[in-house]
Formats: sequence, C-alpha cells, structure tokens
Amino acid sequence: MTAQRLSQFLQVITIVSLATGGLALGILKSSLNHETAIKKSTHKTTKSAKTLPPVAKNLIVEVPKSLQGQTIYHAQLKPTEKFIALTFDDGPSPKNTAQVLEILKKNQIKATFFLIGEMVQAYPQVAKQVVADGHELGNHTWHHWYRRMDLATASSEIDRTADAIYKTTGVKTALFRPPGGYLNNGLADYAKNQNYAVMMWSSLCGDADRHIPQVPGMVNNVLKTAKPGAIVLLHDGGGNRSRTVKALPQIIADLKAQGYKFVTASELLDIQAKEQATAAKTVPAVKKDENLQNQPHQQ
Ligand SMILES: [Zn+2]
Repeated sequence: MTAQRLSQFLQVITIVSLATGGLALGILKSSLNHETAIKKSTHKTTKSAKTLPPVAKNLIVEVPKSLQGQTIYHAQLKPTEKFIALTFDDGPSPKNTAQVLEILKKNQIKATFFLIGEMVQAYPQVAKQVVADGHELGNHTWHHWYRRMDLATASSEIDRTADAIYKTTGVKTALFRPPGGYLNNGLADYAKNQNYAVMMWSSLCGDADRHIPQVPGMVNNVLKTAKPGAIVLLHDGGGNRSRTVKALPQIIADLKAQGYKFVTASELLDIQAKEQATAAKTVPAVKKDENLQNQPHQQ
C-alpha cells in the first residue's frame, strides 16, 4: 500500500467511524429521549391519577341491588325520616327546564329529571346543564309513546335514549320512568329485564291533567300527598309548564316548613335499602339470642 493509498484508506475509516459513531450516538440519544419520554409520561400518568377529580356522583346513577327490576311508587321509610324526591319529566325543554334549574339552585335542592331521548337530541346543552347543576337523570324513552310495543320497539325506545343521555352528558342511569305511567305496554317489562328500577310516583301536582289546576291547587295536591319517602311528579317539558314553574317555589317552601329534606330518586332508594339492611341485621341477632335462651329448655 502506498502512502497515498494508506492515507485515503485512513480517511475512509475516519469517515465511516465518525458516521457510525454519530449513528450510534444518534441511537443512544434517541433511546435516551425515549426513556425520558417514558419517564415523563409515567410521571404524568401518576400525577394525573393522583390529581384526577373524583367522578361526579350524578354521572353514574345506580340503584340498590334489592330494588333493581322493581316498580317503585315511593320509598319505604320510617315516619321520622322526612326525605322526599322531586322528579321532573319530559325535558329537557328550551324554556322551562332552565327556570326549574334556577329555582332548585336557589333552594340548594338536587332533583331527578326523566329525559326524553328526542328532546336530549334537540336540546343537548340543556341536558348538559341539568347534569352540571348536580341533578340526577332518568330514562323516559325516545318518543314518549303510550301504545303497546313489541320487544324490538321497546328496547329501541329505552336503549336509544340511554345512548343519547350517555353521549350527551356522560351519565349512565339505572332509573326508568314509563311515559304516562303505563306499566303494561312492553316498556316496563324490558326496563326490568335490564335491571332498571321502574320509578313511578306517589305524589303529583296535576300539571299533566287535561285541566291543569291553578297554582294553589297544584301546591295543595303535592302537600296533601307528601310523606316520608314520597316521589313527587312534576313536569319541565311536554308543553307550557309556566304554571309548574310558578308553583314550584311554594311547593318547596311548604315542604321545607314541614321539615322535609330533598334528595334525588336514587338517594331515596339508598336510604330505604340501608334501613332495610339495618332491620335485617337486627332480626337474626334477636333470633340467635332467643335460640340461646331456649337451649336449656330443649335439652
Ligand atoms: Zn312523560
């Protein structure tokens, strides 16, 4: 090899080694970056998991197991437990829902809204506001039909509404209310099979009557049927509800004066389930004692 060839050879070696060195450095760099990125992302995940706000209570509306698939007119509570649930049907509506929300906010009351699917589709912002204000949602079918339905129609009425409610508000609800309170047209059967609680009512103001009463009549209708565990039926949609909006502050004030506390429908069911669980725990304890006392006599 001549000196010139050697020099050329060394030059090539240098270039190659520089290139591979650079490449290796590049790989090392990128792998370091990758590692840092992983570390960063892990750190981020841990941090966000720690700081993640708890899922709002009203986003998952559950029903105690013992009440799933049941039809409920009111919660069975002790006479001293003056809890009552206000429920509003047929919304979200563009005008009256906002007025109802305003009154509830003023009174610091959480209520339950049974929404119609096609109204959720038409007024998604109103549905979102109901949830943002901390209220609970229930399913009130897509079309609000009363007629007899086959299984496919009943399932579509309820499932489509559940989807619209979830996609619009993020809420999953186990509460169902049959339109018009009809329990024999296929809807309630389907809802029960899906473990919904079929929520009827024990108190109504009469705002769905053919001849809607005047405001004092509406207030009186609720007051005379109010009791611990009562479920009150009102409407924020399905027509002009200005009279309901007028009656609502008086209904609330009178119930408050009687010592009632306002809870959502699922909270009302939770209170009943807890009471029953406590009662069930007490009963076997008594029986056990009785058995112990009876033992000497038996022997
Ligand atoms: Zn209705």
